[in-house]
Amino acid sequence: MLLNKDFLERGLSSEEVAEAQKKYGPNKLPEAKKETLLQQFIDQFKSFLIIVLIAAAVISAFFGELIDTLAIIAVVLLNAILGVTQQRRAEAALEAVKKLANPTTKVIRDGKLQVIDSEEVTVGDLVVLEAGDKVSCDGIILEERSLYLDESTLTGESVSVKKDAVDPSSDKPTEKNMVFMGTAVTKGRAKVLVTAIGAETELGKIATKIREVKKEKTPLERQLDTLGRLLGVLFLIVSAVVFAMGVFLQGASVTDMLLTAISLAVAAIPEGLPAVVTIVLALGVADMAERNAVVRNLPAVETLGAVTHICTDKTGTLTQNRMTLVGAWFSDKYVEEEQVSQQALEEELLRAMILCNDATNSAGDPTEIALISFLDEGLVEDVRNKLPRVHEIPFTSETKRMTTVHQVDGRFLVVSKGAIEVILSLCNSELLDGEVKPLPKERKRLILQQSEELASQGLRILGFAQKVIEGSLPKEDSEIEKDLTFLGFVAMKDPLRPEVKDAVDKCREAGIRPIMITGDHPVTAYAIARELDFPEGKVITSAELATMSDEELQQTVQDISIFARINPLDKLRIVEALQKRDEVVAMTGDGVNDAPALKKADIGVSMGKSGTEVAKEASDMVLMDDNFATLVDAVFEGRTIYENMRKFIVYLLSCNVGEVLIMFTAILLGFPPPLIPLQLLWLNLVTDSFPALALGMEPGEPHLMRAKPRGHKEPILTRYHYGIIAVQSIAITAATLIGFVIGLNRVGSVEEARTIAYMVLVLSELIRAFSARSFEGYVFKMGLFSNRFLAYSTLIGIALMLVTVYVPPIAAVFKNVPPTSTEFAYIIVLALVPFTISEIAKIFRKNEMGL
Ligand code: ATP
Repeated sequence: MLLNKDFLERGLSSEEVAEAQKKYGPNKLPEAKKETLLQQFIDQFKSFLIIVLIAAAVISAFFGELIDTLAIIAVVLLNAILGVTQQRRAEAALEAVKKLANPTTKVIRDGKLQVIDSEEVTVGDLVVLEAGDKVSCDGIILEERSLYLDESTLTGESVSVKKDAVDPSSDKPTEKNMVFMGTAVTKGRAKVLVTAIGAETELGKIATKIREVKKEKTPLERQLDTLGRLLGVLFLIVSAVVFAMGVFLQGASVTDMLLTAISLAVAAIPEGLPAVVTIVLALGVADMAERNAVVRNLPAVETLGAVTHICTDKTGTLTQNRMTLVGAWFSDKYVEEEQVSQQALEEELLRAMILCNDATNSAGDPTEIALISFLDEGLVEDVRNKLPRVHEIPFTSETKRMTTVHQVDGRFLVVSKGAIEVILSLCNSELLDGEVKPLPKERKRLILQQSEELASQGLRILGFAQKVIEGSLPKEDSEIEKDLTFLGFVAMKDPLRPEVKDAVDKCREAGIRPIMITGDHPVTAYAIARELDFPEGKVITSAELATMSDEELQQTVQDISIFARINPLDKLRIVEALQKRDEVVAMTGDGVNDAPALKKADIGVSMGKSGTEVAKEASDMVLMDDNFATLVDAVFEGRTIYENMRKFIVYLLSCNVGEVLIMFTAILLGFPPPLIPLQLLWLNLVTDSFPALALGMEPGEPHLMRAKPRGHKEPILTRYHYGIIAVQSIAITAATLIGFVIGLNRVGSVEEARTIAYMVLVLSELIRAFSARSFEGYVFKMGLFSNRFLAYSTLIGIALMLVTVYVPPIAAVFKNVPPTSTEFAYIIVLALVPFTISEIAKIFRKNEMGL
């Protein structure tokens, strides 16, 4: 099998694959067991407050208040069910997103190169590895070309290891002839026979022992935990004070006051907040995935909205990566557009374009496809067959060139192509009308000038050179790529992506600075930046960057808008310089060597189509369409999600604070408690949570897209937001207490007065949720129903309230008495108060912010 040449060309057949897959199963590491539904349900009761609540139920049972006991238990259960449903929804959404960015592997099956989900790789498969690939299985190397692997995941050793193909004469491969799951290809390429997958791989054997999913908290969740704890303690103290005042000042019964105090604490403490945040983040992530931006880790969503700089590649991200040849320069003449044909080009140049090229007419690197797509397929095949490749020095973004060596009649033909100045630097002669002439410095300068003229039209330039070696091939690659003969250069056009110009405009409006970081020529890069209206600024190349100290770079980085002829490793310095200036940086990248910069960036962005697996793994977000405009949209989506979280946190906290204030003020003023424990629990755990979630789904507001990015160190709630919470909670308290007092004065029955207070409170929360949809925009401008989730949740909230008032047995449990029509009118008017105040407050806020 190992030596079978046919297998190296064809791989397994579909039937063999199906059989093997049946036998070996999917290529998956064993996953940690998922929580069962029951476990998730039980988890809901682990919170301290729910335990307090259960204790309250026990206490009331002890005092013979059976109905109260059952009711509390029912509310707790309902809350747990809602908690589990929401958690499951969030998990399902995240799971679906994760699948989108699944790792892939290249295999040859049925004689065709295919990219498949790594899970589908099976034992016996023929896997093709290239620089930037993650190895998804264990296997024996059958064929390789300068293959180097990063095995640090297994060995901890970060230096790349050279690997060799297995010796066909020995049947025992050594570690040097094997690749292992979890490692990555840093250089070269190989064909590998899969020997083990999933749990059977070396990694799988370790992983089965140590695999544990740990849930990581996002910075925001941590902030909210702290806030929650702080408020928790505060509200517990308030509850204790309410209890003491009720018992000692009003002579109320200890049982009643104990229950009241406990329910108040439970109702007031915003313990559900982190959960809602996670759900909203998860749903936001699902939404972004639908628009081609797949977020790989949750905290990235929070950071996205704070991005101040987007460092972007050019080729494929700003442009379409669809190259066409538009001209060729050789023997001192330039042939343009239509005339670029097989006949018009010099034979040597044409041969170099065909030979130093891994593409076929329709597949491969777009730069290379462009070099042959205008030729007869027959011609390409013919030339390649006649001059078989015996050695190659692959293209890397560092060397910016590629060289192949071909054997003819005992001699070797070396052909190189690459960045024009790189190729020229390797040449000492040129081919002029079929004759080899010396190539002095001045002549090189002249050729460069000619190429730059074309580059200034935004064209990509690629130089070509060759030489013939008699006798044996030197061992050192540097010897091979030396004293070449310059053949000429070609110019290629790579059209801009149509949506990108708009996206750049949007960035400008939103205070986000795009920076182009490209491997291409500075003149080409500049021309494209001009066309896209990139901000004016300096153009710096890798060579210039090398002369700058980190401090100097930090000083000047604000004035640079293009980094050209850059090596991937320079990207790390650029990110660091920006971060030292306190900027929040999103950085795109696709190659193996981009990984360190992607990890370091606040938002590392990899490319779904052209990106390597290594880059994807290092990134926080994958752009499925490789498009800059998608990235900009994702940043805006991040802003929307963050703002929405602020909206529902402010909304929920003003509900909670309002409830505490209502109880506290009433008792302070000598009134009986305006709400019974059950009413409090019901409205806090059931009716308030729907509108809060709906606020998390609010569509983006236009003014957010024109504002400067928020400071990333700014806490989620600023003084501005605390101000809103203060005003709103006072408004709710006033409305509810006025309702309560009116009730007491009109009828004198505490139950009826409480029903009025309860209804005012529930309705005012539901109505003011519409105003909470924007901190600055007026409801009537936004349209009442433009957030349909909110419209639905309001209806649900109203229904849930009506049930507790008008359905006799349930009303009895809540001790509610249906109000008269006059009282109902009061209720409606009072319930509109917090909403109205919120809308009026926007007038002042808008003036202040100059909106
Ligand atoms: P970006 O960094 O924006 O994606 P890029 O595609 O030009 O731009 P690289 O892929 O690093 O960046 O290429 C750098 C340079 O190397 C190119 O400008 C070109 O001159 C040369 N080059 C690109 N592809 C090849 C190739 N297949 N063979 C030889 N040289 C190449």
